[in-house]
Amino acid sequence: MDKLNQPGRCNYPFTTNKMDNLSSFDRRKTMQAVKSSRTSLERSFASQLASRGIRGWKCNFVGVSGKPDFAFPREKIALFIDGCFWHGCWKCQKPLPVANAEYWFLKIERNKKRAKKVGRELRSMGWIVLRFWEHDLKEPSLRPKLMHKVLNSMKKNS
Ligand SMILES: [Zn+2]
Repeated sequence: MDKLNQPGRCNYPFTTNKMDNLSSFDRRKTMQAVKSSRTSLERSFASQLASRGIRGWKCNFVGVSGKPDFAFPREKIALFIDGCFWHGCWKCQKPLPVANAEYWFLKIERNKKRAKKVGRELRSMGWIVLRFWEHDLKEPSLRPKLMHKVLNSMKKNS
């Protein structure tokens, strides 16, 4: 089994070279802040799944389109954690960095388009696609609701 797709384990294969090569201090700083908060969100979600005895998932699953943050290959469920910044969350309205605002705007628009495309592709292959907002995952009172969605989807596709 390859290293990235071990069941029930998160390997966080984050790299910095996925960005374009227009690097700047500002951009790196933003990236780093966003990534570390994302890693802790994924870890927290992974431990919630584990503590409820939910098994069979893989982190950063490379076996299907879009590399879902969490995937349940047996039940065909792809779960994405949408970062409020990266996906231009309507609720949080995260401000764009002042420097290169246009770059960020276009990047976020591309992310949104890509998320839709990936969703269509996965659904056409019989996958259930769940997208959870970062702000929802950060809200402890919503945890039962989000877990319920996961469990329901597992039931539906089992
Ligand atoms: Zn948000």
